[in-house]
Amino acid sequence: MSEENKEINEAPQNEETSVKQKIVTKGLSDLSPIRIVRYALIFLCVLLLIGIWFRIKPASSPSVTPEEEETAEASAEPAPLPTELTDPASVTVLVNKTHSLPADYVPANLVTPYVLSISDVIQVNELAADQLKAMVNAANESGVTLYLTSGYISYETQDDYFNDRAGMVGEAEANKVIAKAGYSEHQTGLAFDFSDNASGTATTVAFAETEAGKWLIEHAWEYGFIMRYPDGKEAVTGYSYQPWHFRYLGTDVAKAMHDIAPDLTMEEYYQVN
Ligand SMILES: [Zn+2]
Repeated sequence: MSEENKEINEAPQNEETSVKQKIVTKGLSDLSPIRIVRYALIFLCVLLLIGIWFRIKPASSPSVTPEEEETAEASAEPAPLPTELTDPASVTVLVNKTHSLPADYVPANLVTPYVLSISDVIQVNELAADQLKAMVNAANESGVTLYLTSGYISYETQDDYFNDRAGMVGEAEANKVIAKAGYSEHQTGLAFDFSDNASGTATTVAFAETEAGKWLIEHAWEYGFIMRYPDGKEAVTGYSYQPWHFRYLGTDVAKAMHDIAPDLTMEEYYQVN
């Protein structure tokens, strides 16, 4: 008896061992047709699984890529701003170094408010007039002297202001504290400057430490006003700290902003530049 036949005869009770030995020692030629069919089926199953895997893999990658491309396109080209931020007549119109007003825009509803002010010719947007009056009166009634020093400023007057300042300190320096014509919130009639004295000389950061400045920081939002250029937000607003300059946005928006953070800017609240 040969060594190979001996192995087959001695291990009939262990089929698997027998098969392995046959594969190793005699090759596929000695396998029974049933076993060949079994291996063929296993082989086909493996091929099927590989096929399924390749089918799923390419299908999943392209389905993600177009979404990413759409997102990239969307962020590259920002959506247009809502009307409440672009309409010059809107109480929340956004005016900053990116978004300007038409040169010929004059609010249709300018009024002269009866409040303590350094001049009786200051005009304001009627949308803010009642709350401005309520705020200045409340401050003065609580023993804090608060004067209105500036409200509506026309495009032409703003142009004079900017050119005067630029002539003194250069355009770049002037641009940090004063807006170019068309880029000033004062042209909306919804922005206001305050002082604690009748001469109106409080347009410095020291105003924040006066009783009037402190009162405004604490209470302006209750009347619908926000400090438009807070300390430390120069990179957001484009302007240095101006504790005397407040913007009327209405009581709902001012409260919502104050609830998030007392020094939140319009740009941050509306997530715009
Ligand atoms: Zn101002």
